[in-house]
Amino acid sequence: MDFDALREFMVHTQLIPRGIRDERVLAAMRKVPRHLFVSESSRHRAYDDMALSIGEGQTISQPYMVAVMTELLELKGDEKVLEIGTGSGYQAAILAELSKQVFSIERIPALAARAEERLRALGYDAVRIKVSDGTLGWIDEAPFDRIIVTAGAPKVPDPLKEQLAEDGILVAPVGDRFSQQLLRIVKKDGTFREEFHTLCVFVPLIGEHGWKSAEEW
Ligand code: SAH
Repeated sequence: MDFDALREFMVHTQLIPRGIRDERVLAAMRKVPRHLFVSESSRHRAYDDMALSIGEGQTISQPYMVAVMTELLELKGDEKVLEIGTGSGYQAAILAELSKQVFSIERIPALAARAEERLRALGYDAVRIKVSDGTLGWIDEAPFDRIIVTAGAPKVPDPLKEQLAEDGILVAPVGDRFSQQLLRIVKKDGTFREEFHTLCVFVPLIGEHGWKSAEEW
């Protein structure tokens, strides 16, 4: 399969018509080989307009959702970014294309290991991954200029707000099990301004400041 052509087609049919405008985001989506972040059996569907299973009951988000969340972060290139929910590592690779350093936390060790392997093989050395409860953030590396949560949360975990730098931006899907909405928080002069964006459906954020278990939510 001509994956380069499929990727270009994805950008032209799924991202540009739906309003993704940031040229840097579009360039990153054109560049990162999404098909290498899914299992071999899903490879032919990697550029389809949908989320795909990555094992362990988790999913790699739909390309459009990755692009929207990334655009909302307004990355310029010099940021220190925290991602909660490494999953396949695809979103981390997109972030690495657009910022200086990426710290990504995953709670399921098998997913973290596979993501780490892929990112190393592709040369994304600016990404650091750890296995932990991401709702607690990454205290040793805080503050972060940008924080992105890629699992659905009942509310934005307080530790993440505390670890957001001044003038920082945080994006997270917030809501119940069946639907969430992207919430963007901008920290200015020590206060948090909130705005809601696209509706979405993510797998649950499970942890101390998230859902208590996959069953509870
Ligand atoms: N960003 C990923 C997709 C994430 S799916 C990608 O690009 O592929 C959501 C991920 O969040 C799942 O892998 C899930 O295991 C993880 N997750 C859920 N709760 C978490 C928590 N408290 N801390 C870290 N990771 C968590």
